[in-house]
Amino acid sequence: MTTIASPKTQWLIASDLDGTLLDHFSYSHQPADATLQQLESAGIPVILNSSKTRDEMLALRDALQNQHPFIVENGSAIFIPAGYFPNKPELAREEDGYWVLEPGAQRQSIVDFLHNDGESHGVPYLSFSSASNEEIVAATGLNASEAEQANRRGYSEPLLWRGNEQEKAAFAARANAAGFATLQGGRFLHVLGQTDKGQATKLLKKTYQHYTDRSCKLIASGDGPNDLDMLKIADVAVIVRSPSHAPPELPHHPELIVTQETGPLGWALAIQDILATELLPL
Ligand SMILES: [Mg+2]
Repeated sequence: MTTIASPKTQWLIASDLDGTLLDHFSYSHQPADATLQQLESAGIPVILNSSKTRDEMLALRDALQNQHPFIVENGSAIFIPAGYFPNKPELAREEDGYWVLEPGAQRQSIVDFLHNDGESHGVPYLSFSSASNEEIVAATGLNASEAEQANRRGYSEPLLWRGNEQEKAAFAARANAAGFATLQGGRFLHVLGQTDKGQATKLLKKTYQHYTDRSCKLIASGDGPNDLDMLKIADVAVIVRSPSHAPPELPHHPELIVTQETGPLGWALAIQDILATELLPL
């Protein structure tokens, strides 16, 4: 087990949203609420880390009564409320009351790449940036305003792939060579900068560490394959069981918990266990 926490340790918790803090089917966070409050009183920040956009995450962060930094679009950008640390981190820029660190790429640079790539290799996909809102509604099943919100993106471009797997692999290789990454989600192939949930979490942890004499330690929690990069770098990794798929494989992690229960209940019970064994006294 990790060393029993002392006042010399500042614990941080990074957490995915869908299927982790939010129920896979109902999107409820209620089973996690009491634990979230307990962490807040104990001065342990919960850092929301998702594939969602800034606007989508701001709404959920409000619902969760969370006021800590958060990470958007699969590690593309870190939003730190201005004034959260004693001064602005050196590399951050200021935007709408946030200090923003951007390990990812600007969406426009991704769209430019897609435009150039399409001219030589064709366009066997629907991209959000060139689609009408009606086309996005048809591709996603979102309603019209949700589709608009999903299309207000800063750092990544979802593609609905219509070509074959071979074309997709060749496209991913060209994207890589051009300095981007691709990430296959449930429905979309996402093009983003060469970052991931783990790299952004590492950068944010380093930022916390810069402002404290205590030693920062990380608990990370998630339910999907795109959470593995964040789980790998955590001192304690919590894989939250899903009602829809098997837990992702995380071999050789020194301190791994796979929850018994699914979603926010599984999350809360695992965090309670960690609190009881490692973080006492709260
Ligand atoms: Mg998830």
